[in-house]
Amino acid sequence: MNILVINAGSSSLKFSIFDMDENRVLAEGIIERIGQDGTTCRYKKSGADEIKETVEGNDYKSALNEMVKFLLHEEYGVVRSKSEIQAIGHRVVHGGEFISKPVLIDQEIKRVIKNCFELAPLHNPPNFMGIIACEEIFAGIRQVGIFDTAFHQSIPKQAFLYGLPIEFYEHEGIRRYGFHGTSHRYVTDKCAELLSEEKDSVNIISAHLGNGCSITAVKSGKSVDTSMGFTPLEGLVMGTRCGDIDPAIVFHLMEHKGYSRDEIDRLLNKKSGLLGLAEIGTSDIRDILKAIENGNKKAEIALDVFCYRIKKYIGAYTAVVGDVQALIFTAGIGENVPVVREKVCIGLEPLGYKLDFEKNRNNETLISTDKSRSKIMVIPTHEDLKIAQDTLYVLKEAGFIKQ
Ligand code: AMP
Repeated sequence: MNILVINAGSSSLKFSIFDMDENRVLAEGIIERIGQDGTTCRYKKSGADEIKETVEGNDYKSALNEMVKFLLHEEYGVVRSKSEIQAIGHRVVHGGEFISKPVLIDQEIKRVIKNCFELAPLHNPPNFMGIIACEEIFAGIRQVGIFDTAFHQSIPKQAFLYGLPIEFYEHEGIRRYGFHGTSHRYVTDKCAELLSEEKDSVNIISAHLGNGCSITAVKSGKSVDTSMGFTPLEGLVMGTRCGDIDPAIVFHLMEHKGYSRDEIDRLLNKKSGLLGLAEIGTSDIRDILKAIENGNKKAEIALDVFCYRIKKYIGAYTAVVGDVQALIFTAGIGENVPVVREKVCIGLEPLGYKLDFEKNRNNETLISTDKSRSKIMVIPTHEDLKIAQDTLYVLKEAGFIKQ
């Protein structure tokens, strides 16, 4: 049973195809610069070298047609015909308050995705177009939507409401939605498996530290708070996003420094975080660490700010969750950068987190000492695999596939 996973962005389309009998990826790729000159596809069949080619890509439909050519290719393809793809799972960013689990895409769900355009103007429109293009190219193949916001729909009102007049929630839908839900859910489920616990009984704190960063408090397997909010800008300091700031900074910059709305947007989303603090022209943590080794003080402060914010949230979420069974680090930085985990965990001992420094340096799965009240773990995230697993689950639940 093969499932195709599609993640359609504003000018790119990521894809991967999974053999669900073996839970393994067969091939994956990304088509970039869709609708622009020089559209390219990078494609990698599992176990083979990556191929990069210039392709047609005026729109999502032509990009998907190019993807199909790769998947069916005589030499490096992985299926013989489109009919060997049994279902498609789509990553969709925003489902508002309407979606709390993976769903079969029908007219109603497409209406929901459209109704959320205003909440995720950069993401939901391309997600939607990817679905429409797939309907044309893979006619008759079932499609499932997996929403980034869905896992966080269990967050209670006291945690999702802002201290604004209530009418802004009631009439405008302004509230914390949270993102990275598929990743937080994947590592939550994986952690339950590793601890031999039921999925709906684990209490954890999950820190997804990649280009975007967010941290989630999970109680009895459900998200009860998360650091990203109405948009992905809130919370932790990220690669290029500022995370929590005093909102009055925006008025200050507009009134006294002449910043326009778009300039503020770029400043907070694209020029801040590690990039803006370290001022070395990149947000990649590997370059920041190299700069620190070379004595760069701004890079050192950038890392300190980054880690301090994570530590602060862990403290807060320990209060929220109470009996934390595991603190999980995941995503590019969380999985690969021991010094970040070390800086975050030092000082958390009174809260029950005791890091084993050697295990941490070796990137082991369990990196806490035997004495640690809560376990500290490194669990690689696999959002695409989770989307494929969810797609299969939805089809089984709906009776389209035998259990
Ligand atoms: P993600 O968004 O999860 O792909 O994470 C991207 C970020 O993780 C990059 O900007 C790097 O800072 C960091 N990263 C990814 N892989 C590594 C690695 N092998 N070692 C250190 N940092 C990494």
